[in-house]
Amino acid sequence: MKFITSDKRVHILDAHSNVWSVIMDIADSGVQEEAFYVCDLGDIVRKHKTWKSFMPRVQPFYAVKCNDSLAVLEVLTALGTGFDCASKAEINKVLALGVNPNRIIFANPAKPSSHIRYACATGVSTMTFDNETELHKVKNLYPDADLVIRIRCDAADAQCPLGMKFGCDPVTEAPRLLEKARELGLNVIGVSFHVGSGCREPAVFEKAIAAARVVFNVGLELGYTFDLLDIGGGFPGDRGTSIDEIAEIVNSALDTYFPSPSVRVIAEPGRFYVSSAYTLTCNIHSVRDVIGDDETTRHKMYYINDGVYGSFNCILYDHQRVVPQPLHELPATKYYSSSIWGPTCDGLDQVVEEVLLPEMQIGDWIVFENMGAYTLPVASPFNGFPVAKVHVVADENIWLLLKDILPLTEEHFVMNRAPTNLKLGFEDVERVAVSKLPIRMHVPGANSEHVLEYVGFLQDGN
Ligand SMILES: *Cc1c(COP(=O)(O)O)cnc(C)c1O
Repeated sequence: MKFITSDKRVHILDAHSNVWSVIMDIADSGVQEEAFYVCDLGDIVRKHKTWKSFMPRVQPFYAVKCNDSLAVLEVLTALGTGFDCASKAEINKVLALGVNPNRIIFANPAKPSSHIRYACATGVSTMTFDNETELHKVKNLYPDADLVIRIRCDAADAQCPLGMKFGCDPVTEAPRLLEKARELGLNVIGVSFHVGSGCREPAVFEKAIAAARVVFNVGLELGYTFDLLDIGGGFPGDRGTSIDEIAEIVNSALDTYFPSPSVRVIAEPGRFYVSSAYTLTCNIHSVRDVIGDDETTRHKMYYINDGVYGSFNCILYDHQRVVPQPLHELPATKYYSSSIWGPTCDGLDQVVEEVLLPEMQIGDWIVFENMGAYTLPVASPFNGFPVAKVHVVADENIWLLLKDILPLTEEHFVMNRAPTNLKLGFEDVERVAVSKLPIRMHVPGANSEHVLEYVGFLQDGN
């Protein structure tokens, strides 16, 4: 018997299983009560494939703050992306996976001194700035750093605007800052921006790339030859969204303003990579009927075991709107005006304000898709309600792809039609008999060429 937490294990699904069948198996097991996530690694791999086909010139540096789970970071390390880190701890976490420091950008324009020292000690040389005091700090602590000036260019419509906090004005402030950097003898290598997280105005990328070109030219006049353009984050990642429109605008703006391949182009997508990979399932533990004057129910209040202090913090901080789906189809003869509430005693803890739902009972499950971005890293166990556990799954093809490149051992994997041997995250898990593993596991490299081709990531990092 060996103790392994559920989130360290990857459950391999055969062709008959998928995320929803896994959710049903766990929810209907009779012993599950807590809310839980299912994370599909295949979704992350497919996102990477999409990125590479839509924007082949733009190297993704995943924004770690969006979801810093090891499963995510390990898969992206294997796929060869870079990483956008904002702090010493994030840098440390990524370096611990064996990532080369040159695959990290320290993309926080306002860094504590000790974090700059840490970046210096570990060789993470690329970092952003947008103000003069930061230049003095870097001059003192890491004079050889490769600096990237962050300019401001906001989408008119974004889920989370960032411009009021970071980014200097490309016209009125950038020239002065670059002069200062020159005076201090600092090495500036390029320009970055972030149009706002959850950008709903694709055309802003054209405007921002044009503004970056102007700043490149200012640099040139001051004797700098910039060779890095960082187009930041802002790309959508929910099921049913696409980056095609943004990609078209980015690609054509790059052709117009940065035709030379000597300029390396990177981005810092967060939400794009992880949002749809995570599905959260919550249990109804209380129901309250609000009865109208006519003595009939006019509204139903459902209380579930995850809320805005846990996974649904994204409603407050990330301005998300979440969509509830009953796990099982209900005989819907009648729909009720309903609201969904978290488990804590705070009146603020509301998950869905108003939705039409068929009548649900205590013990029923509600599924929320697209819960991978800006949820888990922020969640707290306030009021004694634990943060939901994650069950990581991958289908066989994805597993074949990942098994050779991930730092995982055989015991990380379970092959099963469904993870019935999941012990649901709170007790010990029996060791999996090796005989249960698919035969291919014992033939290193089998099929790997084919599988590697499937993602087409070979030109990156590794
Ligand atoms: C948060 C953040 C990102 C990620 O943004 P998404 O909208 O999730 O893609 C990228 N870069 C920086 C500097 C950030 O702060």
